[in-house]
Amino acid sequence: MYDTSTRQRALALLGQGLTVSEVSRRTGVSRHAIREWQLRTEQGRDLYAAGSRECPRCSSAPRPPEPAPDYSYLLGLYLGDGCISPVSAPEKKVWALRIACANAWPGLIDECVGAVRALRPDNRVRTIQRPGCVEVNTHSKHWPCLFPQHGPGRKHERRIELAAWQREIVHADPRPFVRGLLHSDGCRPTNRVRRPSGDGWYEYPRYLFTNVSADIRGLYTEALDLLGISWKQNKPIEISVARREAVARLDGFVGPKH
Ligand SMILES: [Zn+2]
Repeated sequence: MYDTSTRQRALALLGQGLTVSEVSRRTGVSRHAIREWQLRTEQGRDLYAAGSRECPRCSSAPRPPEPAPDYSYLLGLYLGDGCISPVSAPEKKVWALRIACANAWPGLIDECVGAVRALRPDNRVRTIQRPGCVEVNTHSKHWPCLFPQHGPGRKHERRIELAAWQREIVHADPRPFVRGLLHSDGCRPTNRVRRPSGDGWYEYPRYLFTNVSADIRGLYTEALDLLGISWKQNKPIEISVARREAVARLDGFVGPKH
């Protein structure tokens, strides 16, 4: 049995063009094991072999997906602006997770790709240019296990609740979840208001979160409550964080889109 860092080093050497025998000599790993890893990596890149890596949810001993911060961030992005749909004949059970990231914020696209890679390292992540946005698209058999909110129809037309294991992840640290939700459905505009004295204007930033699903808005405000960040409902589908200290808290782990 070899540890992950040994495996990564062996795969990196293979990637540099060394032969299986050379890699075996340098790392002390058996040639058989290296060939096996090589094969699995290639299969991971193959669309219809997607999901070769063991899934933490449908294994015999289910456990939370890791790393938790990447999962939680991706959960926020998915609930905000993602969808899971079948990509192949039903018997193959391969699903695409698609998250739309606006062209205007290349940093967000990178962060989304990074989170998907961290969560499913063996699955290929593709970025597809669409009008006004980049779709981050990854195929796996396990998206419905990882995001059980998946279901037919639109998210706001069905009940959205977190599973107990998802709640545990979000409650342990709500910040990546809030960051994901704001990165997909939030913005940080500057509000300009007239001074109460009527003497000129002043400006302040605030965070707005807009989602037509009352359940998803509820998950957002629940996470803010856990963090002690004050919010209010501005319009029927819009949640605002505008108090100076509350905005400063969000700036500490969200900040303007980039
Ligand atoms: Zn699974």
